[in-house]
Amino acid sequence: MNCFEAQNLSMQYVNGDIEEEKIKPFLKHVASCKDCKEELEICYIIVNGMKELEQDKTKINNFHEAFENMFNGAIKKLDKKHNERKIKIIIMVILIIILVLVLTGDIYEFARLS
Ligand SMILES: [Zn+2]
Repeated sequence: MNCFEAQNLSMQYVNGDIEEEKIKPFLKHVASCKDCKEELEICYIIVNGMKELEQDKTKINNFHEAFENMFNGAIKKLDKKHNERKIKIIIMVILIIILVLVLTGDIYEFARLS
């Protein structure tokens, strides 16, 4: 993803309108690009500042800190998803190996040897 695409998606991301499959490339780009992170922070502050004005109450005292917390949380969630996928793949590979061993009859050979 390039800066142009990422900056176009910033508002959608903050509003929660971004397409699911675009979240990962978007967050990856923003995490490594200072300009796009600034752009995202501005969108975040605009959207949440407007919300507070509409509701006439101040929940967020430090918008920069709130943004950093939101962003780091999103990155952590992404890493967790990635790890879960890795574990699923490892389990699948193990199951395939077992299946192949069973189908070829080698599992009995293996059991006898161990
Ligand atoms: Zn960028």
